[in-house]
Amino acid sequence: MTAAEIRKKYIEFFRRHGHAEIKSASLIPDNDPTCLFTTAGMHPLVPYLSGAEHPAGKRLTDYQKCIRTGDIDEVGDPVHLTFFEMLGNWSLGDYFKEEAIAMSFEFLTSPSELGIPLDMLAFTVFAGDENAPFDQEAFDLWRGHGVSADRIAKLPKSDNWWGPAGTTGPCGPDTEMFYWTGELPAPKVFDPADKRWVEIWNDVFMQYNKTAEGTFVPLSQKNVDTGMGLERVTAVLQGKKSCYETEIFAPIFAALDAVRGVDSIPAAQRTSSERIIADHLRAASFILADGITPGRVDQPYVLRRIIRRAIREGRKLGIEKPFVSKIAQAVIDAMKDVYPELGTNAQTIVAELDREEAQFVSTLGNGIKELQKLIDRVPPFVTKKVISGKNAFNLYETYGFPIELTVEMAGEQGFTVDLPGYEEAYRKHQELSRAGAEQKFKGGLADHSEETAKLHTATHLLQAALRKILGTHVEQRGSNITAERLRFDFSHPDKVTPEQLAEAEKLVNDAIRADIEVKCEEMTLDEARKTGAMGLFGNKYGERVTVYTIGDVSKEICGGPHAKRTGDLKSFKILKEESSSRGVRRIKAVIGR
Ligand code: ATP
Ligand code: MG
Repeated sequence: MTAAEIRKKYIEFFRRHGHAEIKSASLIPDNDPTCLFTTAGMHPLVPYLSGAEHPAGKRLTDYQKCIRTGDIDEVGDPVHLTFFEMLGNWSLGDYFKEEAIAMSFEFLTSPSELGIPLDMLAFTVFAGDENAPFDQEAFDLWRGHGVSADRIAKLPKSDNWWGPAGTTGPCGPDTEMFYWTGELPAPKVFDPADKRWVEIWNDVFMQYNKTAEGTFVPLSQKNVDTGMGLERVTAVLQGKKSCYETEIFAPIFAALDAVRGVDSIPAAQRTSSERIIADHLRAASFILADGITPGRVDQPYVLRRIIRRAIREGRKLGIEKPFVSKIAQAVIDAMKDVYPELGTNAQTIVAELDREEAQFVSTLGNGIKELQKLIDRVPPFVTKKVISGKNAFNLYETYGFPIELTVEMAGEQGFTVDLPGYEEAYRKHQELSRAGAEQKFKGGLADHSEETAKLHTATHLLQAALRKILGTHVEQRGSNITAERLRFDFSHPDKVTPEQLAEAEKLVNDAIRADIEVKCEEMTLDEARKTGAMGLFGNKYGERVTVYTIGDVSKEICGGPHAKRTGDLKSFKILKEESSSRGVRRIKAVIGR
């Protein structure tokens, strides 16, 4: 079975069981300052798991793109990828353990679904502790489907418990499903420590609320949240030893072979450098498709780091010419039917990768020399070989070396890096630089005051004006609004000229003078797209959205709030235009003066 077939089977199975299919959300979490990336299918659903009503209903299913930076060090092993797809089904206060386990069991074992022989499967359930009891129910349910007691392991919270997401909130036991990947027959008794048992699916039962006092109180709305790793399941079902041996990675490796001018290599013999390149550039392509460009902090920094690591692994393979965008093109071609944002943003993805690669390559050579100087300066008799935090920071600051790269390269010559020292140098620098001190935000309004709402409307007008003057490549990359001013970040490769700024200012002021009504309507995401409304963050789950329309000037999917009429803004003035990060410009502006 191919990954595409498994994805389809999963969604169809849960649709038949009354689940509404929702769209994969962006890799960039919408309103979650605690997490840089969407790490699981449940991540975008947290508000609904906490009790908010989901517009699509109480039974949901999807395939969700995920990034786990925490797993980057394990990348290259058979089953941990930086980017992967998670298949999921949810019950929001609807079915609970009995039905969830029955559906998992049916999907895994039914000949018309995955058709896995029961003998190849094993399960874990929560063993119980001083806070919450042994999950007898889950245990009995698996037994009821014919699973032998030897194949159900009882494990503590560290393995079989989810949440809460913060310090308080919904949480509960989970049950995990494992597939035997070793020699046949599979052992009668399940040993969860044996790595040949690979975890493929996880059903979480949210049944408690953890209180501030640390007690676990049963929830009135009990939820089910499940996640199955698509690449992993594909690999094990195909009898492959790793995700990299599946057809998912074949076109990516083929592109790499073409770059290197080598004959195709058997999938099982791909080296760790090849795996890292394939994994990282797959992840990078998806992050770029969701509107992030390489930069110095947060998601842009993660993106930069994985692109640069891929380039360095390429050097190890002897690749001297630019290659990353060629690999990305293979990712785009292979996945754009499932994730259209890859196709829509293909040009940007390729251009950004080319740019980042050119920049990195030019600094890389100098950085390597600099690091070598530092290393050579230490006499051979010194036993404690350390690169100081200050020097590591300088390599980062001047030569664009991600700290991980310095650690790796220094390590190759027996050196360690003073990481706390690096952190401190980094922090000091951040405090000094204005950018670092500025508050980080997402779609952010500082408050919902009347002034803020007016500036928010001005932001929509400004975006529309910029698109008219500069072109439709202009898209919001960030917006921060206080009661005093707006700050709008948007994609545009060059400095905006004073003439263009004056023209934008004029267009906005024209719209203000026309005193147009700001209309708010609710509709489905698809209807919104059809009306040509701009969406800020690409694919969003959820069926209904609000669209703000300002005459024929602007139409945006947006949560509001806004002014009632453009006339309320009185006037508009641009104070400043500057670079925000590469390919992103920033405008600060005020109204009513
Ligand atoms: P593991 O212990 O193997 O890292 P996990 O407990 O972190 O897995 P979950 O958070 O339960 O995994 O995620 C649900 C499913 O997503 C897993 O059963 C697995 O199939 C898949 N998955 C998790 N992390 C990765 C990854 N880094 N790459 C590929 N698939 C993954
Ligand atoms: Mg994990």
